Amino acid sequence: MRTLNRLAALALATLAIAARADYAPKAWDVVTLAEGVHGFVWRDPLADPIEGNALFIVNEEDVVVVDSGLLPSSARIMAKELKRLTSKPVRFVVNTHWHNDHVGGNGVYRELWPGVEFISHEDTRTDILEQVFANREANLQANERTTDTYAKYIESGVDGDGKPLAPDRRQRLAEVVAMYRAVLPDLRQVRKVPPDVTFRDRLVLRRGERTIEILWLGLGNTRGDAVVFLPKERIVATGDLLVWPVPFMFGSYHAEWPATLAKLDALAADTLFLSHGAPQRDRGYLRQVRDLLAFIRDEAKQAAATDLPPAEAKKAIDLGEWKKRFAQGDAKRERAFDAFVTAPSLERAIRQARGDAGAMTQKLR
Ligand SMILES: [Zn+2]
Repeated sequence: MRTLNRLAALALATLAIAARADYAPKAWDVVTLAEGVHGFVWRDPLADPIEGNALFIVNEEDVVVVDSGLLPSSARIMAKELKRLTSKPVRFVVNTHWHNDHVGGNGVYRELWPGVEFISHEDTRTDILEQVFANREANLQANERTTDTYAKYIESGVDGDGKPLAPDRRQRLAEVVAMYRAVLPDLRQVRKVPPDVTFRDRLVLRRGERTIEILWLGLGNTRGDAVVFLPKERIVATGDLLVWPVPFMFGSYHAEWPATLAKLDALAADTLFLSHGAPQRDRGYLRQVRDLLAFIRDEAKQAAATDLPPAEAKKAIDLGEWKKRFAQGDAKRERAFDAFVTAPSLERAIRQARGDAGAMTQKLR
């Protein structure tokens, strides 16, 4: 009896260890793309929490930064790296779109360089105010609830439906719990600093010899994606119009995105600086994404022509081959494809193809 209890206790302890994950700090690289143009690149773009890269453009007298990251602590790491490169002050930060991982560090830049101004597309400013800042407290509380719920599942070994947790699911939940516990206090530090300067189609910054074109190429990942193009250096920062290893399709514009990406493809650039993933020098991946986007657009159009509700009509769209192409057998990428492509895109794409105005807003739910 005694031995049995000891064994049971040992087995439980082993399970508890297996389900405890530590949050690993994220690794990054700073890469020089041209004279005075440096990329801050997170090494694993799918590591929790998903963080945006930043581009540092060091000019004669000042610095222009593209995107400020998710966590204030990340923005401080970025700022430290920037200060290693130059003592010039940051004059402008471009927020390429409204998602948290591109605007969360704005407050840190304002604190470190009080003269900084934030630039975004007009609609991005609206969405930062209405989606990010207005929902901040509710989102934090939802994240806290998720953390507590997952922690309970891990403790009890069963999920909300009373189903036993498979080891891989248990491990994944433990990773999510560890990640939230590590980053929630940091997320609470995000200050509400919105863009000061907005544009519609094009804004050109001339800083000494440097020309920086901030362009809106059309609807895509969001309604207000900015790309930052350096024509002389032949570099373009793509925002989330192009990210690696899978596109992010949250609140996206499926009918228009392929044409918008084609405009990005047409820019005279040798280096694509992605907001997620390493910089790219050839167009192979961009065209793979373009073809996937066109496939979703065309399939959604066909599905929209049926009488079925979107949740039924989407079953006719098979992204299996695309998933294989993007994931290349990597389980983490497969999961990312399901979560960032398949789940958020199909119903929305069908509703958009039917002209449903409700599917044209940036509201994610
Ligand atoms: Zn992003």
